[in-house]
Amino acid sequence: MPKIRVTKEFHFEMAHALWNYDGLCKNIHGHSYKLFVTIIGEPINDKKSPKNGMVLDFGDLKRIVKINIVDIFDHTIVFSSLAPTNDFVNAKQMFERIEILDFQPTCELLVADFAERIKSKLPLDIKLFSLKLYETATAYAEWFASDN
Ligand SMILES: [Zn+2]
Repeated sequence: MPKIRVTKEFHFEMAHALWNYDGLCKNIHGHSYKLFVTIIGEPINDKKSPKNGMVLDFGDLKRIVKINIVDIFDHTIVFSSLAPTNDFVNAKQMFERIEILDFQPTCELLVADFAERIKSKLPLDIKLFSLKLYETATAYAEWFASDN
């Protein structure tokens, strides 16, 4: 069977602030993120399988990315662990969904982190090929398995 790449698109709203950054993005602000997840594998060649002809059921890919990325980061505020968050997160109602990461939450480092979260959850015969994370309509970062 030929190797085929399959892509699914996801959307989520996330806020962040870049601690120690020298521009406007040091302020808390949000983005409408778009994430393109591309996997690669051989379509199932088994006439008896309900998934015959599929690399991976789009529904299964959706579930994996929803549980491991979207459910965690949608309507969440994300900070680097270097930021002094204890000074301002006392209004618990506003910070119910907060993620403190051990890296600066740039588009570049987020896409690398997302790759790790997704890779280990895929079936053994399916590989993560690439991720493309749009932070704005015109700016995105990409992760490719072949580069890493
Ligand atoms: Zn930003």
